[in-house]
Amino acid sequence: MADKLPIKTILIANRGEIACRVNRAAKELGLKVVQAVSEADTESLAARLADEVKVIGPPQAAKSYLDVDALLAAAKESGADAVHPGYGFLSENAGFADAVEAAGLVFVGPSGDTIRLMGDKAAAREQAQKAGVPTVPGSDGVITDMDEAERLAGAVGYPVMIKAAAGGGGRGIRVADDAEAFRKLAPQASNEAKAAFGDGGIYIEKVIERARHIEVQVLGDGRDVVHFFDRECSLQRRRQKVWEEAPSAAVDEAVREKLCAAAVDLAKSVQYRGAGTVEFLYDDETGEFYFIEMNTRIQVEHPVTEMICGTDLVAGMIRVCAGAPLGIAQGEIAREGHAIEVRLNAEDPANGFMPFPGVVSGLKVPGGEGIRFDHMLYDGYAIPPFYDSLLGKLIVWAPDRAQAIARMKEALSTLKIGGLPTTAPLFTALADSADVQANAVHTRWLEPWLERNIDKLTKQGETTT
Ligand code: ADP
Ligand code: ADP
Ligand code: MG
Repeated sequence: MADKLPIKTILIANRGEIACRVNRAAKELGLKVVQAVSEADTESLAARLADEVKVIGPPQAAKSYLDVDALLAAAKESGADAVHPGYGFLSENAGFADAVEAAGLVFVGPSGDTIRLMGDKAAAREQAQKAGVPTVPGSDGVITDMDEAERLAGAVGYPVMIKAAAGGGGRGIRVADDAEAFRKLAPQASNEAKAAFGDGGIYIEKVIERARHIEVQVLGDGRDVVHFFDRECSLQRRRQKVWEEAPSAAVDEAVREKLCAAAVDLAKSVQYRGAGTVEFLYDDETGEFYFIEMNTRIQVEHPVTEMICGTDLVAGMIRVCAGAPLGIAQGEIAREGHAIEVRLNAEDPANGFMPFPGVVSGLKVPGGEGIRFDHMLYDGYAIPPFYDSLLGKLIVWAPDRAQAIARMKEALSTLKIGGLPTTAPLFTALADSADVQANAVHTRWLEPWLERNIDKLTKQGETTT
């Protein structure tokens, strides 16, 4: 397969578990892997797995993983002809995509113009409306006039959500319960967005009180777009996903078809190239769904889709971005069984999820049918304190959801990550929860549950030292 691709060497412009994941797909495609690392990551698993390592700068992300010039210089010096941005960092930065292409290299993602359109959440909302995809009631485009915005918020009905157009990762979102709060929060949100994302644009949406987060995986080659069904990510803390499933057990086939068709319509409307995810909120009382955003990159939770569809999405995105056709028709994409992923972070759930870097010891990884562990760990590895706390993801597959939950619980009981606390105890407790077992959850279910169940979240698979 690889000999048909016009690329030979790929630079991974990211770190952590996703760098290891991209490495695997690239090697299977026969590519040489160059790993960009900060000075804090020279001993990372991603560095050890790579064919070549390029140090791009000091630990601070702004001076390394976010430094476009340093990354392009590393690509040039190592003879790379493609760049994979992973998720986070520069993955949804239109300027980076443009710069990579201007240097004559393949950017493993959509064009800068598509990122500009869909990575700006307010612009993406308008594009969804144009494509006939339902959006959450709210403002048209970014807010420029605060008085007009307040009038609109009143018309939409409180509570409303104030969102940063450039936001992501659960950040840049505020909820205003009334006009007074809106007057205070809207300018604050704009200023913070300016500081955090370099763009102060904000927009508003009605708060959907009891929603499920359901998203659709798409892959496009710039001409055609296919979907790989849906995922449900309703278990969230601070609007960040912690446990993800595929497919959603909350929708029937008729709704699933509509969601997938809406996602494909939207992606086709921008001649989408690469892997992407169209995110929706689904109200299971009314059966309505609303587009919230599109992530123009590979997502953290992509493995659950790979498990039910038997496909490699990272290899797929590399191939189409290198110019290969999709090579698969929608009718050839089938799904089977149920998959669940949990995000293992170096955080102490019993202690307010405080980040807790440390040295990994006594690592024991579960194995067997339907079990996958995507991670960045080895015994003796000192987790650098500079980056986000995701250590890895435990993913299970089983013929049905109940068996998948049982398999997750069993796999978690085998997994040992010593030397630091992890979020593993949270997932064992969730697997035991009657609401999770019955899938009676929504995006605001987890936080109150955490408050009630704090005692269940203490030590497990804990430090051996
Ligand atoms: P996913 O939908 O893949 O779970 P997340 O929204 O959780 O995506 O983000 C994945 C990673 O990317 C996280 O590390 C998150 O902090 C980071 N991220 C996402 N969007 C942004 C952004 N706009 N700016 C900075 N980091 C981001
Ligand atoms: P991000 O770019 O940070 O991922 P999203 O717009 O995707 O932001 O929203 C993240 C999460 O916030 C959603 O999964 C959902 O839980 C919550 N959320 C977003 N918009 C709304 C809304 N209009 N009503 C209720 N909850 C929302
Ligand atoms: Mg989102």
